[in-house]
Amino acid sequence: MCALMLNKSYFIETFKKLAAMAEENRDHLSKLDSDIGDGDHGINLTIGFREVEKQLPQLSESVTDIAELMKKVGMILLSKVGGASGPLYGSFFMKMATHIIGKQEVTFKEFCQMYQDGVEAVQMRGKAELNDKTMLDALIPGLAILKDYQEGDDPINTLENCVNEMKLGSDKTIPLMAKKGRALRLGERAVGHRDPGSESAWMIMNVFLQQLKTIS
Ligand SMILES: [Mg+2]
Repeated sequence: MCALMLNKSYFIETFKKLAAMAEENRDHLSKLDSDIGDGDHGINLTIGFREVEKQLPQLSESVTDIAELMKKVGMILLSKVGGASGPLYGSFFMKMATHIIGKQEVTFKEFCQMYQDGVEAVQMRGKAELNDKTMLDALIPGLAILKDYQEGDDPINTLENCVNEMKLGSDKTIPLMAKKGRALRLGERAVGHRDPGSESAWMIMNVFLQQLKTIS
């Protein structure tokens, strides 16, 4: 069996589809955010990924490798997206570049490392832990699955398990009080509402999964 490789066009196609996903879920994500925050999460992501999509044709010409692409996309999100999610998702994508400098293609194992580097960046920047009712409640359970991946395992199964664990993690934010972000001020009133960042986090990784299915 020939090892699955993820090349630059895999990531470029994924970013295109992320823009569409954000658009489709804009109202849903903003509604979640209006329950416990300021109601802009869907709009922020849409603005960010739309800008990424706009710059993709030029980026796909100019970037020399995947690491540079991830850094550039992260920088666009950092500069264009307001609220907490811009810096967090910006760091997520930027730091995905950490271990793949100069690479034209990555193995799925390396992709798992990219995700780990991204999650660790969110943890550092957000200073949140599991059960604080943040996007990390989805990101961290997903990481446990990808850390377990070994050569020979099926990448699609693994990423599917990752996304499923992320969804479950998002479900688990519903009964929690928040320890970070705007929802912190709500105290018990945040209970019964899903954290919007945990929802967008699994949705983003689901786009990586769906794109993986198209190339393998
Ligand atoms: Mg918000």
